[in-house]
Amino acid sequence: MHKSINNLISVKKELEIKSQNHSAEIIAVSKTFPIDKILPLIEYGHEHFGENKVQEAITKWTDLKLKHKKIKLHLIGKLQSNKVKHAVKIFDYIHSLDNIKLASKIEVEQKKINKNVKLFIQINIGNEDQKNGLRPEELKNFYSQCVNEFNLNIIGLMCIPPLTGNMKDYFIKMLNLKNSLGLKDLSMGMSNDYIEAANCGANFLRIGSKIFGERN
Ligand SMILES: *Cc1c(COP(=O)(O)O)cnc(C)c1O
Repeated sequence: MHKSINNLISVKKELEIKSQNHSAEIIAVSKTFPIDKILPLIEYGHEHFGENKVQEAITKWTDLKLKHKKIKLHLIGKLQSNKVKHAVKIFDYIHSLDNIKLASKIEVEQKKINKNVKLFIQINIGNEDQKNGLRPEELKNFYSQCVNEFNLNIIGLMCIPPLTGNMKDYFIKMLNLKNSLGLKDLSMGMSNDYIEAANCGANFLRIGSKIFGERN
């Protein structure tokens, strides 16, 4: 059996044993990996995959998605507004919505092709200068504008927490923010902290290296 399949199975088993949250969806983050490394997982039946660049996603996934209709593709990286048109076409979920210009552009582009992308609002949960995402105090107004003005399908919140500090504190803050808006979905947890994230209510875990191996 291919290594990535074994890795996925161990991640699932570990989640079953060490977390209370057995319904979390695993997004296999395939950024930088070529199609031949991804195919075994697709053939195994895995459906959720994540990429962080629009152009890379188009190159790798256009044909794959036509062949495998059940695949759900997630954009987990920053989205430039000049790439929204392409992003809306190829992705089923976008995790990096964090400004009004983007919200407005997504509305326009998805109307043109009659599609309703599932969206996460990205939160800069550690208030880090260099990180993308809204500050928590900006969320409420931004959310209502997205829903009322742009008719966007906001399903939840996403974060990439600071590298240092107590992950659990950040994850719990995210859970509380999500619940304060009555949203259902929470995208957090990566190869190093997915158990903790799952235990704090994450239901979309973004796991790359633990499944595909180290990236260059
Ligand atoms: C690359 C990436 C991941 C996956 O990271 P791993 O540590 O390899 O699991 C998750 N989320 C985002 C936003 C990423 O860019």
